[in-house]
Amino acid sequence: MSGDFFLGGVVSTLAFLFLETLLFFYRAHKMKEAGRYLRRAKEEVHEIAQLPLNNPYPQIQISKSGAIIFVNPAALKNFPGIESQAGKHPVLSGIDDIESREVHFDGKTYHQNVSKTVVNGEQAYVVFCYDITKRKIYEKDLKESHTRAEMLRVEAEAAKEARGDFLANMSHELRTPMNGIIGLSSILADMGLSGEKQGLIEAVNSCAKNLLILLNDILDFSKIEAGELTIELIPFDLRKTVAEIESLQRSIASEKGLLLSAKIDENVPETLIGDPSRLQQILNNLIGNALKFTEEGSVSLRVSGYKEFGIFKTKILVQDTGIGIPKHKQAAVFEKFQQADASTARKYGGTGLGLAITKDLVTLMNGEIAVESEEGQGTTFTVSLKLPISHS
Ligand code: ADP
Repeated sequence: MSGDFFLGGVVSTLAFLFLETLLFFYRAHKMKEAGRYLRRAKEEVHEIAQLPLNNPYPQIQISKSGAIIFVNPAALKNFPGIESQAGKHPVLSGIDDIESREVHFDGKTYHQNVSKTVVNGEQAYVVFCYDITKRKIYEKDLKESHTRAEMLRVEAEAAKEARGDFLANMSHELRTPMNGIIGLSSILADMGLSGEKQGLIEAVNSCAKNLLILLNDILDFSKIEAGELTIELIPFDLRKTVAEIESLQRSIASEKGLLLSAKIDENVPETLIGDPSRLQQILNNLIGNALKFTEEGSVSLRVSGYKEFGIFKTKILVQDTGIGIPKHKQAAVFEKFQQADASTARKYGGTGLGLAITKDLVTLMNGEIAVESEEGQGTTFTVSLKLPISHS
């Protein structure tokens, strides 16, 4: 019994010792771990303490009474005398009650951020300074180039306006005597002059008419370029407009032995809203060209479309059986002073302004113009316009 008791005592002592040993090693491990944490924390505190010293930007701590508490190496380097002058140094004077400001020192510009703190019971300021000299120079350059660009824009605008005014005035001044020449030469031609004289006066009349067309084109063009050409929005009868164009062009068509036809679909409303005189100009240009570039066959005008939410989506086709336009020249014909062929001017006359003006007018009406053509087969110009339907 006593043997058992003894054995029990030995076992429990061994177990106790074993547990104590375990606890010892556990505590030793924990203490080592705590030591490591402490060392790391000390290192971090040291690193944090070093931050202001390593800060490449000047950092200063100054008490409210003007005594320097801390200056980092960057501040000593950039602001010589800061330690001795303290609150009287130009970069620190007037620092009270300021959160941020710009200061200039030694040819450089600094942005300062000032935060408040308390050191030994006294209010103090931590001043961070960032060198923004390069940014300032860049901003100044940018501002100057903006100003220069604005000046150039204003100058260009004024030059454009002056050119527009000059062209408009000149065209106007030239049109008056030109109308005189056309009128007087027509009267002379109607008198029936003898032989060669009749031919000469008709040539004068025809040249003057061509010159007037050119002047009108230039006048329109200068107005469009100067943004002075406005599109009217008035109720008009498209059928009447088309009839007027037809009667105007009929004599030219019959002179060339061409068939001129105009067809308007029945669903085209009686009154639409738009600019009838500019629309007439567009269609006169297209039909004039069609007649000019067609030697035999016909020229037709067709108006169709459909209604959609009070708008008549109008499609106007001007089709001819003339010389056509080569595929690669089709886009260029809408550019100013462009003719499909260098020989065109010699053979047919013209300036290459008509379609450029036509396209501008269509664009001003928020419409579109397109061309389809086959060389030797003929050409079709399509004008698409959205014209409000008038109910008055
Ligand atoms: P212009 O008729 O004064 O030369 P436009 O701007 O009206 O100027 O036309 C530009 C060019 O487009 C014309 O010179 C011609 O080469 C071509 N063109 C225009 N309409 C037609 C057409 N219906 N058929 C063939 N070529 C055309």
